[in-house]
Amino acid sequence: MTPICARHPNAYAASPLDRAANRRDDAGFIAATLASPESLFVPLWRGHILLRAGRAALLAGRAADPCRGAEVMAFLGLWEGRAVFAVEFGDRDPDASPPALAEGAEFADLRTAVGSLPAAEAAILAHARALMHWRTRHRFCPICGGACAPASAGHVLVCTRCQAQHFPRTDPAVIMLVVRGDQALLGHAPRFPAEMYSTLAGFVEPGESLEEAVAREVFEETGVRVGAVHYHSSQPWPFPASIMLGFHAKALTEEIVLDHDELADARWFSRADLRDHKMLGFRLPRGDSIARRLIEDWLVSG
Ligand SMILES: [Zn+2]
Repeated sequence: MTPICARHPNAYAASPLDRAANRRDDAGFIAATLASPESLFVPLWRGHILLRAGRAALLAGRAADPCRGAEVMAFLGLWEGRAVFAVEFGDRDPDASPPALAEGAEFADLRTAVGSLPAAEAAILAHARALMHWRTRHRFCPICGGACAPASAGHVLVCTRCQAQHFPRTDPAVIMLVVRGDQALLGHAPRFPAEMYSTLAGFVEPGESLEEAVAREVFEETGVRVGAVHYHSSQPWPFPASIMLGFHAKALTEEIVLDHDELADARWFSRADLRDHKMLGFRLPRGDSIARRLIEDWLVSG
């Protein structure tokens, strides 16, 4: 039997940054920290993060000079007194190559690297990725179509035509382990890796409470009705712009009626099944996901 241990906290959470939001409108402070050789820069290329030897390549001093004049940039906060900025280099020319910023460093998908990254670095990189994603996709005002210009150290976009202010957005998604006695409901979506079963999830819709979103998504995808819903924890999920809100939900019914547009399969698994998943020939979600944490915490609770 494979031992499974719950982990705390969720990957990408627990950032060490002081966001220092009260300094964002202090133009003198931002200009001075941008120029400071002590400041750290988190470079991104089309959402990919810069890695060197399995660690985040945060640039400082002369190595950060290419970052200082970048158009898409934001002040993330202070890390042990040093200012940290995020920079996106890959926002314009689709044919351009990524810049060579540091010897031995290369741009990579954060999700492929998170397993080897210190938790603090993973959180800062996730923060940078989420904010830069918003910046690169809100160049124009959704009200009048005018061009937007950054303000507040990159945290606000102001329409140059109608002056509307636009703020970073995060899309809430509920993710839930549905349980009934010693059984938990997991699904396999066509987009998942082969043989991987995971918790159900979906976006919260306008005018809906989180509890209602949990019940609706579970019923839509599997036909199972849920009753009590208990909050577990949350996880920033910048792939590209979500916050995952994790729940354990108690099922009132067992019969599964699949929504084949969403899921290829859904099954009830016992705790023993989940602990022995490798021998039984299926996979659980990635270790950096809140889905895995919802499963592991349920396993150790029974
Ligand atoms: Zn406008």
